[in-house]
Amino acid sequence: MLDVVDVGKRSLAAYRGVAPDAQLDELLHLADRLRGARCMHLNATSYGGGVSEILRTLVPLYNDLGLNADWKLIHGDETFFQVTKRIHNGLQGAPGELTESDKAIYLANAQLNASRLISDSEDYDFIFVHDPQPAVLAAISPLRDARWIWRCHIDTSHPNPSFWEFLSPYLGAYDAAVFTLQDFIPPELPIHDVHVYPPAIDPLSPKNYPLPVELARHVLEWIGIRMHRPLVTQVGRFDRWKDPLGVVHAYQRVRPHIPDLQLALVGSLALDDPEGWEVYEEVRAATAGDPLIHVLTNLVGVGNIEVNALQALSNVVVQKSLREGFGLVVSEAVWKGTPVIGGRVGGIPLQLPEDTGGVLVDTVEECAEALLHLLRQPEEAQLLGARGREHVREHFLMPRLLLDHLRLLNHLAT
Ligand code: UDP
Repeated sequence: MLDVVDVGKRSLAAYRGVAPDAQLDELLHLADRLRGARCMHLNATSYGGGVSEILRTLVPLYNDLGLNADWKLIHGDETFFQVTKRIHNGLQGAPGELTESDKAIYLANAQLNASRLISDSEDYDFIFVHDPQPAVLAAISPLRDARWIWRCHIDTSHPNPSFWEFLSPYLGAYDAAVFTLQDFIPPELPIHDVHVYPPAIDPLSPKNYPLPVELARHVLEWIGIRMHRPLVTQVGRFDRWKDPLGVVHAYQRVRPHIPDLQLALVGSLALDDPEGWEVYEEVRAATAGDPLIHVLTNLVGVGNIEVNALQALSNVVVQKSLREGFGLVVSEAVWKGTPVIGGRVGGIPLQLPEDTGGVLVDTVEECAEALLHLLRQPEEAQLLGARGREHVREHFLMPRLLLDHLRLLNHLAT
């Protein structure tokens, strides 16, 4: 059997007054036609990245709207996740070759998970498969009555051919695909029904719920942040595409001008991301001995509330990615009114349109310049944050994502 993630209950009514009314009204209308539909969301991990963050809210909201949804996880060991991380990197264009042994490990795991799926012996109307780790399942699973949807969260605009030629034939079994940006649709995708919509954050989750300032300050002092000093934060898995070392270099350029500036680098270490440990060690080595750089992880108890407090009370948040599917962390920080300096890649520019939410940068030098500017111009920084919050409210809160999902399901059901 596949593991089922226990997600608790959520109520769409609680989003009244937070998300736009028009979205909530349309949701109730669309859900009517899907009442009782059985849906499964399938991915590789229940914590430690954007997909799990989204599913933790999306799946219970499906249920609140009268659909019947499960969130399940494929099984995999470290060797499998090493291969899928290589596939993830290769699909985002990293160099390298997928070896015969990688392919064998990946396919053997898929067979195993396909038989687990059968032994669950449940019928679904819709199965969403997230990202490359479980992507082969549509092709080899006998659950053919379901409509299968591949939800690709990463930037597959220029996949490394060695990886794409291996994976793409299996994708032909899907009825539809969803990408975050039009640009991400890979060349010669064998899925014909393609949809484009971005992810969203949950304004009511512990990570995004407004914390009383005193509590937020207390939480940060507890983890070693000095509240009387300015603070810059990047939150993200320890992944080279998120360029944590680039953030350190930008920070080091600013530090001579603002000597008491602190940097918090927060990253979770997830089971399906063995490379994260390597990058973590590199970051530790590059920042050792500097008491104003805080390298924080889930392993020392830095979880949702701490991330919430860091995003809310930092002077500036950075997301200096070199490749990025969407970057939920950008909307999370902007939603708290904190300006973000973001890499001009993937879904980040969607979240930071001109003069709204923050500043886009291409290099370490530009990042340092923007940091210094926003730290010296707090009123401008605050204005950017406030405008950005309204942009997030309209485009990147969970009810908007739910709406896109229900539109897709309605389309597939007809
Ligand atoms: N996150 C977290 N703690 C960490 C690192 C990340 O809670 O130490 C969360 C972050 O707040 C966000 C998600 O994980 O909700 C990461 O999503 P994003 O889209 O930014 O990146 P991904 O990991 O999917 O590439």
